[in-house]
Amino acid sequence: MYEFNAKPEEILLVCSADSHYSMAKSANLLNIPLLKAEVDQFTRKIDSEKLKTSLIAKKENGTKYIIAVANMMTTMFGSVDDPSDYTSLFSALDLPYKLHIDGAYGGFYYPFSNKENILNFNNPDITSITIDAHKMAQAPYGTGIFLIRKDWMKFAQTKEASYVEGDDCTLIGSRSGANAVSVWMILSKYGPYGWMEKIFVLQKRTDWLCEQLQSRNLVFFRDKHANIVTIDSSSVDYEIAEHYHLIPDNHNDPKWFKIVVMDHVSIDKLKEFLTAIDEKRD
Ligand SMILES: *Cc1c(COP(=O)(O)O)cnc(C)c1O
Repeated sequence: MYEFNAKPEEILLVCSADSHYSMAKSANLLNIPLLKAEVDQFTRKIDSEKLKTSLIAKKENGTKYIIAVANMMTTMFGSVDDPSDYTSLFSALDLPYKLHIDGAYGGFYYPFSNKENILNFNNPDITSITIDAHKMAQAPYGTGIFLIRKDWMKFAQTKEASYVEGDDCTLIGSRSGANAVSVWMILSKYGPYGWMEKIFVLQKRTDWLCEQLQSRNLVFFRDKHANIVTIDSSSVDYEIAEHYHLIPDNHNDPKWFKIVVMDHVSIDKLKEFLTAIDEKRD
């Protein structure tokens, strides 16, 4: 808007069907249209052909600029978007874009489990990234972190905030410094190697769970670098899912149930869960 005099209705927010509901909230708050790209039911990968058709239609109807959000682990599936699924289409259709990475869930996991990942500032297509310390890092709520390339923060600065010493570059305004301290403490206590080891163990456990599910021919999704395993509701009994506190994608009509493998999700507990499934099937 500052640079191109763009009107809200000319800016399209593009994310995937598996993106967090906060995308809808943000589009609503910014008063800009939202386009959710469809994903494949089993691979959770963005359907490029359908997205292309939708983008062409949007362009004909006045879309001139794109804000795209690629996921680094979605909340329900742990799936990771390939940002070039978006950027190749925007370039082909000559639509200027800014690409944001939603690493709320995956930001404290995926960079440690997949060293080759391209969802970081080494990738010139990416302008900004969010990571949440209140997910995998288990900090108190309200420890979302927004990272943007140098020289972009000026667009978030409120010039009217004259009585504040320093700048206000936030949407939320005054907030607790104790939250920042708690994130600092958590990260310092683990240290980089401690955190690496933690993720290493969770990866091994998740691998184990997936092998077990596979050997039983159960239907599930897992990105191989993620600690989220999402099981098709046809493969797990509703009562068992509820008893083991699996998270449904929809509380009224669940199609999927997920397990997030964390410290407390031990192999012993997973074994109990698998035994319950086996007993039900016998
Ligand atoms: C949790 C989450 C968010 C937003 O989280 P809040 O905790 O509501 O700030 C955004 N994106 C993803 C992928 C998430 O998992």
